[in-house]
Amino acid sequence: MNTRPATATAPTDFIRRIVAADLAAAGGRPVTRFPPEPNGYLHIGHAKSMCLNFGVAGETGGLCRLRFDDTNPLKESREFAEAIEDDVRWLGFGWEGAPRHASDYFEEMYGYALELVRAGFAYVDELSAEEIRETRGTLTLPGRESPWRERPATESAELFARMRKGEFPDGAYVLRARIDMASGNLNLRDPVLYRIRHAVHPHTGDAWCIYPTYDFAQVLADAIEGVTHSLCTLEFEDHRPLYEWILEHVRPPARPRQIEFSRLNLEHTVMSKRRLAQLVEEGHVDGWSDPRMPTLRGMRRRGYPPAAIRDFCERVGVTRKASRTEMGLLERCVRDELDRSAPRAMGVLRPLRLVVDDYPAGAFEEFDALNHPRDPGAGTRKLPFGRELFIERDDFMAEPAPGFRRLAPGREVRLRYACIVRCESFETDPATGAVTVVHCSFDPESRGGRAADGRKVPGTIHWVSAARARPAVVRLYDRLFRVPDPGGPEDLNPASLEVIEDARVEPSLAAAPPGACFQFERIGYFCRDEDHGFNRTVTLRDGWARRPAG
Ligand code: ATP
Ligand code: MG
Repeated sequence: MNTRPATATAPTDFIRRIVAADLAAAGGRPVTRFPPEPNGYLHIGHAKSMCLNFGVAGETGGLCRLRFDDTNPLKESREFAEAIEDDVRWLGFGWEGAPRHASDYFEEMYGYALELVRAGFAYVDELSAEEIRETRGTLTLPGRESPWRERPATESAELFARMRKGEFPDGAYVLRARIDMASGNLNLRDPVLYRIRHAVHPHTGDAWCIYPTYDFAQVLADAIEGVTHSLCTLEFEDHRPLYEWILEHVRPPARPRQIEFSRLNLEHTVMSKRRLAQLVEEGHVDGWSDPRMPTLRGMRRRGYPPAAIRDFCERVGVTRKASRTEMGLLERCVRDELDRSAPRAMGVLRPLRLVVDDYPAGAFEEFDALNHPRDPGAGTRKLPFGRELFIERDDFMAEPAPGFRRLAPGREVRLRYACIVRCESFETDPATGAVTVVHCSFDPESRGGRAADGRKVPGTIHWVSAARARPAVVRLYDRLFRVPDPGGPEDLNPASLEVIEDARVEPSLAAAPPGACFQFERIGYFCRDEDHGFNRTVTLRDGWARRPAG
């Protein structure tokens, strides 16, 4: 079942138009699939593919399945497969039936391969992987035929059966399609269809010691499953002639239509699993779920709502143009969603002590604060107020700069939801000159935040009770890479993570569960982490646009 609501709107991109036309011409229901290889965690590029595959099916009354294209036991694991299922659900999608595996069809695939061998369309080769590469030719030079290419079909069939039985070591033989070593398309120069790999497979265990190549397996899995539209990224366009060759020569029950679209690329990050794995393995980030990673796990820990990611994919759209999307667009989607959904809270990142000298020591009162200023239904909560408070360091200036409207000697400021205070004096650290305490008086008539005499107080700042607030670790994240189109680790942004050990948050946040997101008023959006720290999801405004790239 697809959880995305069906919509009756006109197709919005070229793929949806093709599917609609196919449906109008032939009827039936579209079948799509999201086909990850379980060799890493999903990233936001995969989200684009999911939004498209689940979206197309959901909008047309079709089906979308989750299928693991698990043809390489050396790189794949149950752990990755389980994480992928979890991430797909988290993004808001449900697949038809149980998750499927290309490896569920190994027996059929073997049968198809054997048919090819018997018909003379495939042969068992003895060249090594290196020799095959060397004889493949180039874009301008044709390849050279293997000396084993003319091996009689019966001999190849027998060798292929013995490969399956495990009689040979890894690499001793491969099965190759017999197509055309002079083809202008390198994928048609007798591609390898099967290799020997004595490895335990996460799904089929030790049932097999030969494994189909990705190309052979994925087109057949689509055909066997009755996928009507195989939606894939542009790099598979050059493989389509091979897929067509395979479909023509093995004649499976159905023939999927392959349509390619461009990959999602995001500025200031990398997308391929291989490069993400490198960041993890070399310790540049704290695992796959590091909130700076473009993985769905990372984004989840960062506090990106799934709805924002879906919205982003929709805004990026589906085309055949290669491009790199600005991180700012993703952040705008996150901000829009969190502005609607995140409750407000008070958090002080860099605390400065403020003493209300004329407020009785040991006394407390509570002020009502709105949980969401534009949604009265979100209710209110109590903020404890006492003689000692913390305010943001930046909200006080001993010598106010022009235009500064917050707290300064002799000036008044409104403490949000509480009252108006006036700065009477301040203390400094004699060694450094840094301000350590601000002393204020308060206007008891201004409880709730409005002056009884109607005088204007232009500045409003946030605050927490020094006695009742909770200390918190806050992590501020920035772009993982300094440059929009990063190469390797040398392009990493050394300032991508700042950890603040001694922030203070209002007491109600003590009960916030991991994953809960808040807007710290005036500061940004933050998400509670498993370790109870708060990760900055996104700032309130796009600060990056104004900064130099370096
Ligand atoms: P990677 O290069 O990150 O390993 P992949 O294409 O090898 O990606 P798969 O697990 O094979 O990863 O991908 C599953 C599906 O997601 C495929 O259909 C693939 O085309 C699609 N996909 C992967 N990356 C992107 C991307 N950046 N944009 C859109 N779709 C993507
Ligand atoms: Mg891959």
